[in-house]
Amino acid sequence: MSYIEKIDPELFEAIEKEADRQEHKLNLIASENYASRAVMEAQGSIMTNKYAEGYSGKRYYGGCDFVDVAENLAIARAKELFGAKYVNVQPHSGSGANMAVYFSVLQPGDTIMSMDLSHGGHLSHGSPVSFSGKLYNIVPYGVSEETEALDYDELMKMAKECKPKMIVCGASAYPRVIDFKKFREIADEVGAYLLADIAHIAGLVVAGVHPSPVPYADFVTTTTHKTLRGPRGGMIISKTEELATGVNKAVFPGIQGGPLMHIIAAKAVAFKEAMSEEFMQDQAQTIKNAKVLCSCLKQKGFDIVSGGTDNHLMLVNLNNMNITGKDAEAALSKAGIIANKNTVPFETRSPFVTSGVRLGTPACTTRGMKEKEMELVADYIETAIKNAGNDVLLSEINIKVRDLCSKFPVYS
Ligand code: PLP
Repeated sequence: MSYIEKIDPELFEAIEKEADRQEHKLNLIASENYASRAVMEAQGSIMTNKYAEGYSGKRYYGGCDFVDVAENLAIARAKELFGAKYVNVQPHSGSGANMAVYFSVLQPGDTIMSMDLSHGGHLSHGSPVSFSGKLYNIVPYGVSEETEALDYDELMKMAKECKPKMIVCGASAYPRVIDFKKFREIADEVGAYLLADIAHIAGLVVAGVHPSPVPYADFVTTTTHKTLRGPRGGMIISKTEELATGVNKAVFPGIQGGPLMHIIAAKAVAFKEAMSEEFMQDQAQTIKNAKVLCSCLKQKGFDIVSGGTDNHLMLVNLNNMNITGKDAEAALSKAGIIANKNTVPFETRSPFVTSGVRLGTPACTTRGMKEKEMELVADYIETAIKNAGNDVLLSEINIKVRDLCSKFPVYS
C-alpha cells in the first residue's frame, strides 16, 4: 500500500485520478511532457530534507557533501549538454530564472525590448501583470502582420529607436526558428544585453534540431520540464564569469533562499537522460510529428499561424472556423484531447476567450506516437472542432482517443 494512501486517502485519490488522466487523455499542451520514473524518483528522494543555502563548496550549512555531488553533477552535465561555461541550476522556475537575469544587470526603469505576450512572448518578458512589466520599461515587439513571423529588419529599426539595455528573445507560442545570430547583431548594434529564453525549445536545442543561442546570448534561461523532460524548474547559462557572478548573487541570496536539492538532483538525472541517443531521436520525432499534424490540419482547412511550424508547436487561428479558442479547448477536452486556447497575433478577443489554440507534440512523442498517429489525431481534432456542440460525437471521439492512448502507455 502506498504511504500516501495510508496517510492521506483524499490526496491519494486525486493523484490516482491525475495518473489516469495523464495515461488516457491525449496531451497536446506544448509546454508539458512526461518526466521519467528516474527523474521522479530523484524528485521524491530524501534530498528534499537538506538545506544548502549558497553554492557547492561554499554553503551556509553543514552536511552538504552529498547534495554538493548532486549539484555538481547537474552543472557539469548542463555544461556538456549546452556547450556552456557558466551554469546555475538553482532557479525554482523559468520565471525566477528570468527575474535573476534582470536583477543581475538591470535597474528598475531600464528598457527591455521583448516579445509581446499576445504574439507569443512569456508573461515574465514584460507583461504589465508580471513583475517584469511593473519594474521595467517594456518595449514589446511582435511578428509581421504579413508573414506572422519575426521581421529582423523591423527589430533592428525598433532597437535603434528605443535603445534597450536588454533584448529578450525566445517565446512560449512561436512556431518558427529563432535566429539568435541576428538577435546578437541587433543587440550589438545598440549595446544591449541579449537574453535568450529557450524554455520551450531547450530539448530541441540539445538535440541540435534547433540552432543554439549559447554562442550568441549573454544569458540563456530555460525551464527544465518542457521539451527537456526534466523536473519542474529553471536554469541559467551565462556567457562570462563576470555575468555568472552577478547571476549567482541574484539567484541566492537575491531572490531565493535554500535551493530545492531534490529538484536539482532530478535535473542531474534528466540531463543525463538528455545525453542519450533515444532523447535525441525523440526530439527530432517531436518536430516530425508537429509538421505532420500541422500539414494534415492545413489540408482540412485550418488556418495555421505563419503557415506552418519548424518546431514542436503550432498555433491554429480559428477565425475561419467560427469558434473561439475557449470553445475549441472545451470541445477538444470533451473529446479527450487536452490543448490550450491561445491568443493569435493581432488578437481581437480577450486572453480568456482568444481566437486560437496552441498544439504541441512533446508529450505525445515521449509516449511513442509517430506520424501515423498524428494523422489520426488531426482527424479527431477536425471532427471535434467542427462538431463542438455535438456531445454524442465528442464522447465517441473520447473513446477512440482513450483507445489510442492505451496503445502508448506512459508509466503503466
Ligand atoms: N519562459 C517561457 C518562454 C515559458 O514558456 C515559460 C513557461 O511557460 C516560462 C519562461 C516560465 O516558466 P515557469 O512556469 O517555470 O515560471
